[in-house]
Amino acid sequence: MRRIKTPFFWEFPSINGILQVQQGIERTISQAMHILTTSQYSALQAFRKELHANPGVSGEEHKTAERVLAFLASCSPNAVVSGLGGTGIVATFDSGKPGPCLLFRAELDALPIQEVNSFAYASKVHGVSHKCGHDGHTTILLGLAQQLHEKRPEKGSVLLLFQPAEEDGRGAKAMLADPHFAHFKPDFVFAFHNLPGYPLHQVVYREGSFSAAVTSVIFHFFGKTAHAAEPEHGLNPALSIAHILQGCGKLSNNQPERDDFTLITPVQMEMGEIAYGISAGYGELRLTLRCWSQENMEKLSEEVLRLAEDASAKYGLYITHEWTHSFNAIENNPEAVGAVYGAAEQLGLSIHKRAYPFKWGEDFGLFTQHFPGAMFGIGSGETCPALHNPDYDFPDELLDTGVALFHQLCKDILS
Ligand SMILES: [Zn+2]
Ligand SMILES: [Zn+2]
Repeated sequence: MRRIKTPFFWEFPSINGILQVQQGIERTISQAMHILTTSQYSALQAFRKELHANPGVSGEEHKTAERVLAFLASCSPNAVVSGLGGTGIVATFDSGKPGPCLLFRAELDALPIQEVNSFAYASKVHGVSHKCGHDGHTTILLGLAQQLHEKRPEKGSVLLLFQPAEEDGRGAKAMLADPHFAHFKPDFVFAFHNLPGYPLHQVVYREGSFSAAVTSVIFHFFGKTAHAAEPEHGLNPALSIAHILQGCGKLSNNQPERDDFTLITPVQMEMGEIAYGISAGYGELRLTLRCWSQENMEKLSEEVLRLAEDASAKYGLYITHEWTHSFNAIENNPEAVGAVYGAAEQLGLSIHKRAYPFKWGEDFGLFTQHFPGAMFGIGSGETCPALHNPDYDFPDELLDTGVALFHQLCKDILS
């Protein structure tokens, strides 16, 4: 690794108004980082901004998918399959020779968040914007498509997968369940997420769990209304809700450094009507559960359901439940992580080993349940607003870094 004064940031200054890059700043970056030519970078940056200005929430990424298909057409993949699990796309770049098959995944969806940025490419869709950087992730995968168009891998093949509906946890499931996906047999799957709060370009990796197993549960409490003066004649859900909440408080340790990390967050509850003469007869409670592995999640889910059974037995209400928004833990394969580390090292990037997984859920976890693979992070800068914040914007400086890393993985494994 060596420190150089890079002109790269002068040619393409950040224009989002948030990530101002000072002239003459020293950065830890290698020469190998400049994989993109000036015109490729400009084209990708323009494309990213077009995606940013025209976002679609989970399940409604139709225009984004159309733009991706149009871009892919200019890169002459060997095959393109679209409409997978909704708006999902897989493009194949084949060497024509036997060898490993690598899959790289990016997400297409934006979030139901009103953008507060006022730059020229701000979202044109009211209440919807790219606040997780999926516009950048998708653009990077297209940058890789350009590289593979110029030069196919020496052996094996590369699949570029553009996935819908990551944010609601439905997209990976829908793509994997699509019968047209069945003939793709990747030996390794890779993805990255940009990480605000980490130094720009820094690669963040971890063997084993990379992000939490997350799931949400909705409880319905069916009691009986009564006169507020005579609640003893009804079945008010309040104490049942309290019983579950107190139990969940005891089950949560919220200590991410522990292997048995558990966190149960009450997200919403309601009961009764605003009518002061009526004792409530119906209620709802929504909780989100997190832990580090699928195994622990199964145990935790059972314990939460047991609390509801106890409440039902104690207070005589009928309680039902439904699970929603489930994300499998991303479980990184050591060999795949080694490949990421090796690629980052060759590019001279700063590398950080994460002590414990991230608390958020990411449905790439489902891919890692089916295929060996790894998700890693690339720092978006310490001053970049956090993901899902209304002023967040993907730092374009990462376009080159992302393409270079993915391309290095291709070169390392397929030559
Ligand atoms: Zn997100
Ligand atoms: Zn995301």
